[in-house]
Amino acid sequence: MTSIATLGSHCALQVLKGAKDEGFKTVLVCEKKRERLYKRFRFIDEIILVDSFREILDQRCAKILQENDSIIVPHGTLISQMSSNEIESIKNPIFGNKWILRWESDRKMKEKLMLESHLPVPKSIPNPNEIKGLVIAKRHGAAGGKGYFLATSESDYNKKRDELIRQGIIDGDNDLYIQEYAFGVSAYLQYFYSGANEDLEFFGVDRRYESDIDGLGRIPAPQQIAVDLIPSFNVIGNSPLVLRESLLDEVYSMGEKFVEAAKRLVAPGMTGPFCLEGVYDSNGKFTSFEFSARIVAGTNLYVSGSPYSSLMYNEPMSMGRRIAREVKIAKDKNVLQKVVT
Ligand code: ATP
Repeated sequence: MTSIATLGSHCALQVLKGAKDEGFKTVLVCEKKRERLYKRFRFIDEIILVDSFREILDQRCAKILQENDSIIVPHGTLISQMSSNEIESIKNPIFGNKWILRWESDRKMKEKLMLESHLPVPKSIPNPNEIKGLVIAKRHGAAGGKGYFLATSESDYNKKRDELIRQGIIDGDNDLYIQEYAFGVSAYLQYFYSGANEDLEFFGVDRRYESDIDGLGRIPAPQQIAVDLIPSFNVIGNSPLVLRESLLDEVYSMGEKFVEAAKRLVAPGMTGPFCLEGVYDSNGKFTSFEFSARIVAGTNLYVSGSPYSSLMYNEPMSMGRRIAREVKIAKDKNVLQKVVT
């Protein structure tokens, strides 16, 4: 009997609860230090204890997952703790397109896919001496905003970069990708593309609360200036958002363009959950600075369904549950190879 497996972090609870609701056996690869936490949840059927998530690459883990006929649901922790080569080398089936995860981790590939999607993206700045206005310097991979910083000139950039090197957070310029700062209201658009039904579903929106940058907004300007701090964009949590209904049509067409572009660049395309991340300006125009090609933690908000999933399903449908439902649909239609790699 097929089971659904994931790593114990990020959105594991939502994914496994959803899998259980769909009637699957659930398997968690769990670091020993988190065993007590995850044992609290009765919908987790089997726990594979490891010292480090990297053991998922080892024979022992692979064998247990194989015996359980597990489909692994990848999330941000898998991406941040393993290289693209390692992820691609996993023999057990992975939900969605494991090849597209490399396009998420590599900033240059990421930019290529976003441009191919014809999404409005902030300009990237190849060299610090080309910095003219406000820019954001970001680390490669899913660093979750840690060690990112703002700069307005080359000297400002150099000063902050040197400070982060001194703190041991980055090694040098090669660790950083510079992009124009996009102003507006941030929104993280959560989608699911069904490979089995060949249909795009819009699942929800969230905003992120990032430290230190969001905390700084609570302090009056004179104190902000006085604080000697390079504010980071480290995600602490998420809060829900609904969009003006007039923005929805564009939300779907952006998602569709992304799916189409992914089909052209990285077979079998963007299947399963993904997220377009960006800001809306005062004209309601979306600029996308980032995508995630797998489930994002912002979907944890909607374990009982979202304002958008409720319009499509007459039952509580979380992203985790939708993933499990997709496995079921694909199995019924005999097209499992379309939804796992
Ligand atoms: P994750 O993988 O968790 O999405 P990440 O490490 O890939 O994170 P980004 O999402 O690119 O990082 O950036 C982290 C945060 O920095 C964003 O949530 C946003 O607040 C801010 N940010 C990034 N790029 C821009 C930009 N061009 N303009 C404005 N803000 C930005």
